[in-house]
Amino acid sequence: MAKGIVVILSGASSVGKGSIREKLLADKDMNLFFSISETTRPMKEGEVDGKDYYFVSHKQFADSVKNKELLEYTEFNGYYYGTPKAQIDFLVNKGKNVLIEVEAQGVGPIKLNIPESIAFFVMPTSFEELERQIHEIYKDDEASVQRRLNKAKMEMEIAPLFNNIVYNDDVDKACAQIKEIVMKEMEKRNDE
Ligand code: 5GP
Repeated sequence: MAKGIVVILSGASSVGKGSIREKLLADKDMNLFFSISETTRPMKEGEVDGKDYYFVSHKQFADSVKNKELLEYTEFNGYYYGTPKAQIDFLVNKGKNVLIEVEAQGVGPIKLNIPESIAFFVMPTSFEELERQIHEIYKDDEASVQRRLNKAKMEMEIAPLFNNIVYNDDVDKACAQIKEIVMKEMEKRNDE
């Protein structure tokens, strides 16, 4: 049995990675399972512990780092986020594909550890549109808006380093583009 494929989904904050992720995970052909990150940020309304994230304390996060349980981790907007390694190994060894959603800095360490992974960078149709969305989502917190905008600028600058850039002007179109590339890779690995 061929090992599963690790699919990395990255892109600026508020660019619509979440909708793309949900649609891809719901597509049975893709045999795709979500890599649940650990985070120290508080749970938002509607989120479920163990589904959206593992919501952990600083002490628990520090232990995961110390015990080398994370493939990569980063600090974002005052909180820590990290990708647990064990669940990814478990899934790919069972032939399942795994979707890891990370901000741009997480992509490098994952590619280094899993060179055969495929990274997709989701770009907004325009910076102005992204700015509008960030203002809409974080309207009560100007400092957060500014931090997210600065980070988005930096992330869009490094986007050309990724081999697969997906423009999110239409979620269905973006998902179809990702699906085509992943399905081709699945066929290739099954033939090997
Ligand atoms: P949010 O707080 O909006 O859920 O996530 C903030 C950012 O952190 C998003 O861009 C998301 O993709 C990213 N993120 C979530 N989990 C991880 C992770 O495990 N590692 C890294 N590097 N980024 C993550």
